[in-house]
Amino acid sequence: MKHLFFICLVLLGTGVSAADYAGPIFDAHLHYSEEAWNGKSGPHPLPDVLSRMKRNGVKAIVANSRPNAGTLALASSELTKQAGVTVVPFIRLYRNRADYSSWFSDPTIYDMVQSEYAKGTAAGAYRGIGEFHLYESTNAKGVIAQKLMAFAEEKQLVILAHVDDVAIDLLMAATPSRGQKLKLIWAHTGIGGASAQRVDQLMARYPNLYGELSYRPGLVCDGGKLCPEWRALMQKYPTRFLLGSDTWVNGRWEQYDSIMQDYRRWLGDLPPDLANRIGWGNGAALFGLK
Ligand SMILES: [Zn+2]
Repeated sequence: MKHLFFICLVLLGTGVSAADYAGPIFDAHLHYSEEAWNGKSGPHPLPDVLSRMKRNGVKAIVANSRPNAGTLALASSELTKQAGVTVVPFIRLYRNRADYSSWFSDPTIYDMVQSEYAKGTAAGAYRGIGEFHLYESTNAKGVIAQKLMAFAEEKQLVILAHVDDVAIDLLMAATPSRGQKLKLIWAHTGIGGASAQRVDQLMARYPNLYGELSYRPGLVCDGGKLCPEWRALMQKYPTRFLLGSDTWVNGRWEQYDSIMQDYRRWLGDLPPDLANRIGWGNGAALFGLK
């Protein structure tokens, strides 16, 4: 009894209520771009971002940054090890903001991916490509987008794509297996609000399609709990959903605590095994972490 009282006090002290998910978190969508650190000491230098991860129980991250130097800094720092954070490095396709709207047909992007892939990182080989954006789904037919999907499948690299549901089909069609083998994390699981039925259809069609849940419209309902149709989707595909912070601008670093706290709240409303899979286990299994 005394012991239980002590646990409650500890939880109150961290702002976590007893019902919230309290396990480790795999942040499957994290950027450490240059405006956060300016190559040395921007508003969010390494000790700052790592302390945010640590105090939120984030034990592993998919790191991708514009340019890749941010990912390399996270991957090579002693501080990352000390914070207990495992870095899963992804090759970002953007050297600068202009690349957002032309990467899919720019051969120099393909060359950059090849050279980054050959170099690897201090935390080991790159494990994926992205995040990339396609604001027009038809750009998924761009010659470089098509080549990169085939390359990813061949090298077993995971794709992190901010695209609509039409582009998911087009990207999958570009692989030798027609999407049966490619591992693709769908950033935001359709930020444009593809219906839960459409997400269900795509998950059924592609066995290695994963849904990352930052910014997903319609996910959370009253009291910060999951909306019923999303709860049902997670129960139908328990191994296919992931969390992400999407620290695409510095404001997201400032909100990092509340982003994770919001996740912990709705995870706490799921059966513990499912909460643990979405919070940690699915990402860990996808990248072979302990
Ligand atoms: Zn992002």
